[in-house]
Amino acid sequence: MSSQQTAVSRAATEARVLSNYVGGGWVEAAAGDSLDDIDPATGALAARIPLSGAADVDAAVRAAREAQPAWRDVAPQRRARAVMALREALWEHREGLAQLVTADMGKTIDDARGEVLRGIESTEAATAIPHLLKGENLEGVATGVDVELVRQPVGVVAAITPFNFPCMIPLWFLPFAIATGNTFVLKPSERDPRPSQRIFELIDAIDEIPSGVANLVHGARDAVNGLLDHPEVDAISFVGQATTARYVAQRAAATGKRAQALGGAKNSMVVMPDAKLDEAVPAMLGSAFGNAGQRCLAGSVAVLVGDAERQEAVREALVAEAAKLTLGAGIDPATDVSPVVAPEARRKVIDAVGRAQDEGADVLLDGREADSGPAETLMGPTIVETEDAESELAREELFGPLLTLVRAADIDEALEFVNGSRYGNASAIFTTSGRSARAYRYGVEAGMVGVNVGVPAPVAWFPFAGWKDSMEGDLHANGRDAVEFYTRTKVLTSRWR
Ligand code: NAD
Repeated sequence: MSSQQTAVSRAATEARVLSNYVGGGWVEAAAGDSLDDIDPATGALAARIPLSGAADVDAAVRAAREAQPAWRDVAPQRRARAVMALREALWEHREGLAQLVTADMGKTIDDARGEVLRGIESTEAATAIPHLLKGENLEGVATGVDVELVRQPVGVVAAITPFNFPCMIPLWFLPFAIATGNTFVLKPSERDPRPSQRIFELIDAIDEIPSGVANLVHGARDAVNGLLDHPEVDAISFVGQATTARYVAQRAAATGKRAQALGGAKNSMVVMPDAKLDEAVPAMLGSAFGNAGQRCLAGSVAVLVGDAERQEAVREALVAEAAKLTLGAGIDPATDVSPVVAPEARRKVIDAVGRAQDEGADVLLDGREADSGPAETLMGPTIVETEDAESELAREELFGPLLTLVRAADIDEALEFVNGSRYGNASAIFTTSGRSARAYRYGVEAGMVGVNVGVPAPVAWFPFAGWKDSMEGDLHANGRDAVEFYTRTKVLTSRWR
């Protein structure tokens, strides 16, 4: 056995098995099976993840149910203070959390810091809950009759989250859910749950968040199905692939739960002939290749608008600048393009590029042969131009460092292509014309739109989600939508003569 193999097998036997956090304490999952949690940059085993089953979910949901009546009775301003305490803990430990995001998910340390900050911003937004929860009233609708609308928590709510933002996305939900008086169960991605584990370690030390208010259950499908089928779960927040989002929304509806399920994406970036290329190109490359293309807001298709000469100028600039990007481990500050989450994710993108090439697409920048690194997870930035606007590369989410180029004669043709997608998460236009920007923002079918912004992520005081197959349900994450989702309205009509 080589010394490297010895080291790996020692790490394997020593890897920590993560625990669930239920009713204010750490508990081992009853289910015996576990998954390996691998560092995507090195392939090293970082932890083992218990595959919790229905009994583990039931324990967490019962703890949440038991804690809910007393938590609902806590004054909103005191619940806000509990969320402020969480915010302080997250802020104090932000660098450690960012390091953990990079080690568990693979993204660059700069991106990880940005992600943690975004999660902190959602937490900060939820501290305004006394103001956000205030209702409405109308006096004198008839003689001596007044009407009042109040918001009450829905009860026990759960969130099921994806791998690509393992710190930020749990924090889209947890702070708003508990601030509104609900109790909460999180089922994080089974690929990278260590940032969630850390958040719950911080929660464990916060006296203002009583036992049972926030619970954590590790696992995969069985844990998700346990939550979806549990009669004591009142609402489900989900983020992940479009097919999983639809499944979650349908199963939640079948068991009478409120659901918001944010799905996948294929986002286009339109470059108008008047766009300033020195500003547009870096923004587009950051969107396409940042986080190795594994963002739901990644611009994975560039629509080049204008005559042949202009299109050639944009194409050349994109390829020349993308070729300069550095591939490597996320923890290396020099890295621009980090590993994808697993070897299968890399293979999926490489295979799709191969199929496109067989069908006649032009591979303008080819990252397939780049050194794939110790974990077979690195792929160089790849740019492919296709004539086929309905091809897999133009229409399907591939979630890797791949940018597809298509062409359009004018803004109408560009909009027709963009709106032909079954997804409607995000979209961007690069232009110096107010008229084009206005036509685009008015006509594009997407929930989040950027004008000269490649990654149009709304700040936490606004709702975050897409349209069409990118979203199942009506109320988005964050902002006022979060307050609406996590509360039920009650309208009181009183007569006092
Ligand atoms: P995923 O759908 O594979 O997993 C998400 C969650 O669902 C995980 O917790 C997982 O355990 C669970 N899950 C997966 N398959 C399941 C099944 N068959 N039955 C029950 N539960 C299941 O998503 P992912 O690969 O972790 O995340 C990437 C996806 O998330 C991309 O499609 C990306 O676009 C999307 N995403 C969307 C947004 C948004 O705001 N719309 C944000 C981030 C990520």
